[in-house]
Amino acid sequence: MLSGDIKISALSGVGPALANKLSKLGILTIEQAAKYYPFRYDDFSQQAKIEQLQLGDVVNFVGIIDIIETKRSPRKRMYVTEAIINDGTGQMRLIWFNQPFLAKTIKAGDRLSVAGRVGQDVLGLVIASPQYEKIYSNNSEVQHTSGLVPVYRTTSGITTKQLRAIIDHSLRSVKIDDWLPAEIVQAKKLWPLEMAIQTIHRPKSLNKVSKARQRLAFDELLLLQLRGKITRQAWLKEKANSINFEEVLTKQILAALPFKLTNDQRRAAWQILQDMQKDYPMLRLLQGDVGSGKTVVAFIAAINVAAAGAQAAILAPSEVLASQHFYSSYQVIGQYCSLGLLTRTQQYYSDKGGEIIKISKQKLITKINNGECQVVVGTQALLQDTIKFNNLGLVIVDEQHRFGVEQRQLLLDKNELSTSQQVVPHFLSMTATPIPRSLALALYGDLNLSLIKEMPAGRLPVITKVVADEQRPAMYEFARQKIKQGQQVFVVCPLVEDSEKLIAKSAKKEYELLIAKEFKGYRVGLMHGKMSGVDKQNVMDQFAQGELDVLVATAVIELGVDIPGASIMIIESAERFGLAQLHQYRGRVGRRGQQAYCFLLSSQNNSEDNRRLMAMVKTYSGQELAQLDLAWRGPGELSGYEQSGFGELKLATIFDQDLIVLAKEVSEEIITQDKWRQQVFSSQVWREASNGLLPQ
Ligand code: ADP
Ligand code: MG
Repeated sequence: MLSGDIKISALSGVGPALANKLSKLGILTIEQAAKYYPFRYDDFSQQAKIEQLQLGDVVNFVGIIDIIETKRSPRKRMYVTEAIINDGTGQMRLIWFNQPFLAKTIKAGDRLSVAGRVGQDVLGLVIASPQYEKIYSNNSEVQHTSGLVPVYRTTSGITTKQLRAIIDHSLRSVKIDDWLPAEIVQAKKLWPLEMAIQTIHRPKSLNKVSKARQRLAFDELLLLQLRGKITRQAWLKEKANSINFEEVLTKQILAALPFKLTNDQRRAAWQILQDMQKDYPMLRLLQGDVGSGKTVVAFIAAINVAAAGAQAAILAPSEVLASQHFYSSYQVIGQYCSLGLLTRTQQYYSDKGGEIIKISKQKLITKINNGECQVVVGTQALLQDTIKFNNLGLVIVDEQHRFGVEQRQLLLDKNELSTSQQVVPHFLSMTATPIPRSLALALYGDLNLSLIKEMPAGRLPVITKVVADEQRPAMYEFARQKIKQGQQVFVVCPLVEDSEKLIAKSAKKEYELLIAKEFKGYRVGLMHGKMSGVDKQNVMDQFAQGELDVLVATAVIELGVDIPGASIMIIESAERFGLAQLHQYRGRVGRRGQQAYCFLLSSQNNSEDNRRLMAMVKTYSGQELAQLDLAWRGPGELSGYEQSGFGELKLATIFDQDLIVLAKEVSEEIITQDKWRQQVFSSQVWREASNGLLPQ
């Protein structure tokens, strides 16, 4: 048995190149491989004989290859590999697309274990793109095609099979110690950690998966709780600058806005200003659905801090968002304070009441460090060592769950390094994630909560339609009409994995198609994940300034972008997104109060997907949609759609009410009982999750 912190490259077969790719998945050590959980399972537990197979069956069987050959399909310009397999009871056709190497690795006479869904084409029954593995001897273990087979998120250059094998190997080599006291594990009827981890990768039944998940999800929630409690303990002992509420200035700024604050915005701002008057740090979460207007509340907080002679930092999860916050802060509070934008590729500055100028990174950092720059908007780049604020009074983090605890801590530490003043900044975190209030309080025990429930007046619900393929021409015509009236269109495409390229639309292809046809003669831009930060920014700027009519983007379009003129959101392969995520996209249009539209297209056209998408038509509550995401999870699905949950929670969800309550209870026991504190806070698991945070 190996200790968990041994490098993954210690496993045979994992060379430097592969180790490098694994690191992109966050797998550096054997233990990290063991804790890289599947997101779903293929259920190949049904073993069958070929003669019994019927259309629609999902099965596993073993047979001998009779024939295999690869052809180039003339029409579709792709490789098609066809094989016939025989298990003694009958023959079945197998077909793979664009994997010409298969005919070299599989030969007639090979014994194969095959798994997949039985389909049909003009020639009869066939299994398309089956999973397969060669069987060399009678007792060779079948890993990929039999039983509940775990499916992992992977990255380019690592096949699912490879990843599965590496994780399997790690699981057999590693010894995992439970970080929780055995008494707690027993008393709360949890599974031991080792058993839970082994089972989540290699379950005998879905029932067992559920027990394993329960233990692992519990750990995630417990860590969150403990961290929250300890952070709060630590913070309440700290001093913060008391920030005076500048009523006249605040009223002046509000009066200059092109709109009136909603009551909820007003109350949230009030709560924040009240908190900041205290001489201990505020810890507050501002929660409001997309488009509810959290940003302006943040600016009100920031300007009061600047007026009190301190600095405010606003952290955004992406360059595009940071830049957007910078420009809108310039409009709202630029008259009253100096402002800076610092990201990896962009540095701008404006003096109080001055113009925005481009500035060198070094100069901007100097202005931040000497306090001249009062409000700083930025990305992660703000966390670099060379930046030490002169007098940081407030930290605002937009979309908190995308930031890890380390970043939060880093930013809070910045002041201690700076002046002689031993104060920590006030902390405001903003999120659109629809957590029910009771759970938010349990989950984020360390934060006070402000809610913005009402949308700005006059905001019309986005008319949402599930669009069938034959309605496409009408939809494009409708979009062109709207463009002629000066409105703008988003087209969102999912990120596609290699194996799915055949069915899903990629942003790049879609872009080429649209400029050639449906939006010929219109101004169409493209934005995808592989573009540089600057290029993304340029496209976004053009779109924001109305120089583009249509923006085709992959799912990278940043949560939170504000393009007031955008009225139409077209989402391709919408079935691949979680409802909560679709809801986020939908919230991107109609922000000026104009009637907006969201069109959902499905690439598969199956009734199950359509039923799910119809929920978007019927409900506008982000919370309800997030709940439906969970309810509609398939039996073999472990974690939901990517990005629909919290970055930090892999298996737990915000709706695991019982587990959240249990975690809260256990966290209190651990903190108060000396014998347990010892074990828990000296464990490796805690150290990794908390970045060295310790209870007082
Ligand atoms: P989010 O809460 O998703 O971050 P934003 O702060 O980006 O939302 O606000 C969305 C849009 O609504 C912005 O264009 C903003 O100027 C506008 N807005 C904010 N508050 C109001 C209001 N009270 N009335 C009208 N429009 C508002
Ligand atoms: Mg926002």
